[in-house]
This record gives sequence, C-alpha cells and structure tokens, in this order.
Amino acid sequence: MLADVSNDSSSRLTPGQLSHERERATRWLEEHWPEPRVCVICLDNTWTVGSVVEAPLYRTDGLYPYVPVSCTKCANTLFFNAIQMGLFEGEEQLR
Ligand SMILES: [Zn+2]
Repeated sequence: MLADVSNDSSSRLTPGQLSHERERATRWLEEHWPEPRVCVICLDNTWTVGSVVEAPLYRTDGLYPYVPVSCTKCANTLFFNAIQMGLFEGEEQLR
C-alpha cells in the first residue's frame, strides 16, 4: 500500500503543486514496484510517499531530486530518482 502525506513545509511550491508531484510519484511507483512491497527491515508493507527532496552533489552546485518513500512501521526510507521517474517532464527542472 502506498499512501500520500501532506506534512511538509516547503515554501517554493504550493500545496497543490506538491500534492500533484506526490500523486505522480505514487502512480509511477504503483506501475514500477510490484506487490508485495515488503520492507526489508520490518517486513511490513505500508509506505508513505513524501515530497521531492534535493541531495547536493559533493563539491559542485549540482543537485539530485529524490522522492522519499518511507515504511510507516519502522521509518526505513527508500529514495527514488525523480528525474528518472519523469516527475518533471514537461515542467521546468528544479535547477
Ligand atoms: Zn519497515
């Protein structure tokens, strides 16, 4: 099960835009991540899809955007590359 969350405080995107990103990410995950989606730590299968986060590249100005997907039981978090997921196709890139 993949659930949406709405508890982030980013000021760069509106809540509607953030919600749209999470919806697209959830759809992508449902298409690409076969069930059962078992957590390798606790063996539960309930996940929450968060808003895109940016990881800065070491000693450069570059950034990688990732979608965090967290196990709701143990907090184990997976990060999916938002560019590869096509989250920004047709939109301006983050940087
Ligand atoms: Zn877990």
